[in-house]
Amino acid sequence: MHFPAYAHQPNCRFNSDKNASHFCRLTWALDSKNTIGDSQRMTLEIYTDDSSHSAICREYWQIGGDGAFSKTISEIAKTYKMTTTEVNKIVKANCAFFSPHIFCEACEEPYQFEGRTDFTSKALREKWTCQDCKTHIATTALEAKHNCVTRHAQAALSKPIDPYTMSVRQLVSLAALSRFGADESLTYIHAFDSIRDNELTPSTEYSIAIIKELYSSKLLIVSPNSDLGRITLNENGGYSFYMSEVEFLLPHPNPAGFITAIEEDLLTPGFFEEHKAELEFLAQEIALQECLAFLERVLMEHQLQYSPGEKTFLVLNKGLESYSVAQMCNFIWRAAKDAAAFYIRNRVSRDHAAKTVVGSIERQIERASANGWSVTAYRRNYDHPQSVLSRTLYNTVLKTDDGGFSKRISDLFQMPTRPPAVDDSMSSPDAPDNLH
Ligand SMILES: [Zn+2]
Repeated sequence: MHFPAYAHQPNCRFNSDKNASHFCRLTWALDSKNTIGDSQRMTLEIYTDDSSHSAICREYWQIGGDGAFSKTISEIAKTYKMTTTEVNKIVKANCAFFSPHIFCEACEEPYQFEGRTDFTSKALREKWTCQDCKTHIATTALEAKHNCVTRHAQAALSKPIDPYTMSVRQLVSLAALSRFGADESLTYIHAFDSIRDNELTPSTEYSIAIIKELYSSKLLIVSPNSDLGRITLNENGGYSFYMSEVEFLLPHPNPAGFITAIEEDLLTPGFFEEHKAELEFLAQEIALQECLAFLERVLMEHQLQYSPGEKTFLVLNKGLESYSVAQMCNFIWRAAKDAAAFYIRNRVSRDHAAKTVVGSIERQIERASANGWSVTAYRRNYDHPQSVLSRTLYNTVLKTDDGGFSKRISDLFQMPTRPPAVDDSMSSPDAPDNLH
């Protein structure tokens, strides 16, 4: 294969197209298959009128009849008395060699080879989209997401929620979420994952469940200012996302007024008496979650893992009828310690050892209850402070300082009390009063 007769045009300048950025465009047909196996027209554009640079570019991209490059880069370097690095630099700066068979899938621009290695690479036979088109496609996709989320948000905001139609559970949960993640002007709620200095509820799993519940009740609206990379458009015109990764708007055009109305509602005299049953139900749920979170932590400290199910919920709920969360932590801590000892002593699997925990907690509760023992209450660990949901319910509504941890639910709601009393020392000389 030979280049066309560029020798008749010493500097190969295109006179017919003064606006062209290139001085010379050479196209030629390969008279045999090249290294890629094609026999189409090759195109080389040269952007210099320096004759030696122009010649180096042509020699660099010259392909012989056998499909191989006519000269090695070292040979070209030798001819022009320079290093191979200099040859590469001149070629890179002064010409562009385009593929005859790889085109941008979007705009059909031919692929420009970066160098010889790129040219011989088989990987380039794959599909290709040029950078401009990639940027354009990405921008268009972001705009489509933004428009879709905005459309849904506007539709939701056109039907504002009246706080007085919300359930007690929703009022407490939304007030807690707002305290947990709202920005200073109360206009939106930060993405859950972006908040590190606080805990919404005793566990991440429960927090996400609460957010999901509020979203399903149309009390949260996905903000168009969310990280759109976290949102996926669906074919049905909707979109999908993870609850913990997006920002939310409150369901009212006046979010600050909306959340203030909720906070005032929680502080209304008589709110507690009026909604006692609903509040107690929520208190039981939070207490159970406190116990589950504590169970998970102490098991992890012993390198044991366990997925709590209905049986665990049943045992813990039963214990919470008679004991505070702080006292339940005593049973849980001992059970985890015993499971760890059982694992080491009997050489059972970690899974097997972890599964003994629930039975152990149940037995401790039964014995303490039958014998009328008073059970030592643990203090909250600094690493796991009271959650915002717990503060909203117990401190704001029930006016107790972390009462959900240290007091029995039956005491908080003035239900008929049962023995034993709280805070007396029990037969637990080896148990710390502050868990780590
Ligand atoms: Zn393109």
